Amino acid sequence: MSLEATIQVRAGGRGRSYPVLVSSGLLSLLPKVIPAHARAHRYAVITDSNVAPLYGRKVYEGLRGEGKDVGFFEFPAGEASKNREVWATLTDAMLKSGFGRDSAVVAVGGGVVGDLAGFVAATFMRGVPVVQVPTTLVAMIDSSVGGKTGVDTVIGKNLVGAFHPPRLVAVDPDVSRTLPQNLRAQGLAEAVKHGAILDRAYLAELEKEMPLLLAGDPGATARAVLRSIEIKSEVVSEDERESGLRQILNFGHTLGHAMESASDFAIPHGSAVALGMILEARLGESMGVTESGSSKILERVVRAIGLSTEIPEGLSTDEILRFTQMDKKGRKGKPRYALITRLGYVDPDGGWGREVPAEEVERVLEGS
Ligand code: NAD
Repeated sequence: MSLEATIQVRAGGRGRSYPVLVSSGLLSLLPKVIPAHARAHRYAVITDSNVAPLYGRKVYEGLRGEGKDVGFFEFPAGEASKNREVWATLTDAMLKSGFGRDSAVVAVGGGVVGDLAGFVAATFMRGVPVVQVPTTLVAMIDSSVGGKTGVDTVIGKNLVGAFHPPRLVAVDPDVSRTLPQNLRAQGLAEAVKHGAILDRAYLAELEKEMPLLLAGDPGATARAVLRSIEIKSEVVSEDERESGLRQILNFGHTLGHAMESASDFAIPHGSAVALGMILEARLGESMGVTESGSSKILERVVRAIGLSTEIPEGLSTDEILRFTQMDKKGRKGKPRYALITRLGYVDPDGGWGREVPAEEVERVLEGS
């Protein structure tokens, strides 16, 4: 199935915007599409060791075939590479190859490539254009849109970075065919979040299409990616720097992040957010903020993704609470929660991020 759509995302107050193209088969058109959106004297294709043989080299060779001056830069796949050392290695390699101010970076890969290559682009010669070519569902649905780039540090994840909106996001849903199912499930958790905060009909559609989505069906994937990007770009266009509305994207994330950290990242991000949404919906219900029954529906959808709906044994309430206190989005050590009013809707009058008494959170975590 071929599905083509272009979404325009506004990039903050700088009056710029960038297109997101979602199209089956787009990968083979990239050598023509990329230069049309990001004109440069030289292109640096940055990818990881898994994506290189699947798609990275194809993009590189395609650009060369168009007569472009292109460099190819590959780093070992995995979150462990998303650090300043690999950023320096990539930057130095580009400098040694003679890349200058008139270059553009093409990031081909999952969220790790997007964040790291995006940060290289943000800082190289004080900033060169970047084109994002996301190849995981997490990257298609979430990380490639919004302009956040950066690296992890020993103190914490994503603590050093920059806002650097791309010139173009090019999604070819066909690449999800090579993704392992567990990685698809991780991305689908974020899609469920988009439905839960802003579009109940989309949430219902995701639940219906879950078997196809988990199997990597390109048509179902394209439809979900498109709707999710529309939702994320609506939110991000309104509030690029996360001062208000964008905080609703943190639904499920305060407890999700805390559980991820408390487990020392043994719980993958998508699984943590999926469980975090259920718990934060329960929290909202117990405070009279969220329509009752919402958490039950979320439980059903999370089960359909095949992710756990229970806090893993061995994660103590105290540990989780301790990590909520360290949340980056908290203020003065007080965590904030993006609570939904009902599935598909968040009432702005309640504020986008609320403080919640620790005892209330404790009660929900203890299941009482
Ligand atoms: P990832 O980039 O590590 O990709 C997961 C694995 O899949 C890797 O081994 C990769 O090589 C492989 N892979 C990628 N595409 C493939 C394909 N089509 N077929 C087969 N294998 C493929 O991880 P991820 O889950 O994509 O992203 C996680 C990262 O994204 C984290 O670092 C997170 O902080 C970041 N993130 C950033 C934002 C943002 O707004 N910038 C948002 C969400 C997540």
